[in-house]
Amino acid sequence: TRAAHTIDLPRARPEIEALPAYSRASGAATVRWRASSNESTIAPSPAVVEAIARAGEHGHLYPTLFADDLVAALAERLSVPADAVLTGAGSLALLQQVLTAYTGPGTEVVHAWRSYEAYPILIGIAGATAVPVPLDVRHRHDVDAMVAAVTPRTRAVLVCNPNNPTGTELTETEVRRLLDGVPSHVLVILDEAYREFAEEQVDGVDLLREYPNVVVLRTFSKAYGLAGLRVGYAIADSAVAAPLHAAAPPFGLSSVAEAAACAALTDPGHTDRIVDSVRGGRRYLRTGLADRGIETPASGGNFVWIPVADRATALEATCVAHGVSVRTFAGEGVRVTVGDRDAENAVLAAVDAFTAHRP
Ligand code: PMP
Repeated sequence: TRAAHTIDLPRARPEIEALPAYSRASGAATVRWRASSNESTIAPSPAVVEAIARAGEHGHLYPTLFADDLVAALAERLSVPADAVLTGAGSLALLQQVLTAYTGPGTEVVHAWRSYEAYPILIGIAGATAVPVPLDVRHRHDVDAMVAAVTPRTRAVLVCNPNNPTGTELTETEVRRLLDGVPSHVLVILDEAYREFAEEQVDGVDLLREYPNVVVLRTFSKAYGLAGLRVGYAIADSAVAAPLHAAAPPFGLSSVAEAAACAALTDPGHTDRIVDSVRGGRRYLRTGLADRGIETPASGGNFVWIPVADRATALEATCVAHGVSVRTFAGEGVRVTVGDRDAENAVLAAVDAFTAHRP
């Protein structure tokens, strides 16, 4: 445009201009199967669809400021006070709120790497410095290295459990070792987006009762199949949650999203079906890959990590050619969402073609 070349435009904060862009799934719009975004392969419960229609009839009215009905339902389920629960437009929005409230320029946030790609971006938006700590050789969090990375500038340690994209889980013993090693004035953010699919079943909310510097993040995007509705929640000690309430955008959750989440809680059988399809799918895919000579780390998520290193981009292209979009981290590996047997078989067919053409 004319303006960009001839006049001085406003500039964003330098740390914003330096941010990397989110990666996008290749071919996700055109392929037959979407296995690139860790979505549920099963649509929302009929109870949810009905609740959305009903909520729509009142779409001319504002929701409550902080989604009171959903907060009350979650607080009851989790046996915590209502002022310990916050909801938001996905757990991403809540993570951004936590980082904005508790970190900032001159402070550091420790997190494992490779992990969820949003972490360095949201830390950067908050103006803080990301301190990535490499995963160990088994693609797991290196708890001792993370504890050792804490400095007087550290305000938060961010733990993805199960870890996206490797699927690896921390044991409760490891989480406790981390909590015991980190000073109590440092926030420990436990991102439990995939907890419903996990094998270890570490419960951040239980730990929070013992360690009040814990913030737990959870979501309706995965095991409840509501990714498009954008509903996440955070649980923290009431004292830690108070500044989060103060910094929260009012009306952050739409009335439709709130009604959908409340309805999803009334249909646990639907969540069980989603969890069963994921557990079966990752077992099937990991076994199929092992039969083809590809070992993958045990996954507690709705995805499997294929650590093919410098062959990742080539494997992605073969998967797309077989009709499946996947998420690739060049030089590291490919992450495949599970839950649809046809998609899993297409990935295995792609791997067969891939290994046949290997030089
Ligand atoms: N945390 C992790 C580890 C994730 O993988 C994701 C989604 N891919 C999120 C948080 C964000 O989920 P939401 O849809 O709740 O914002």
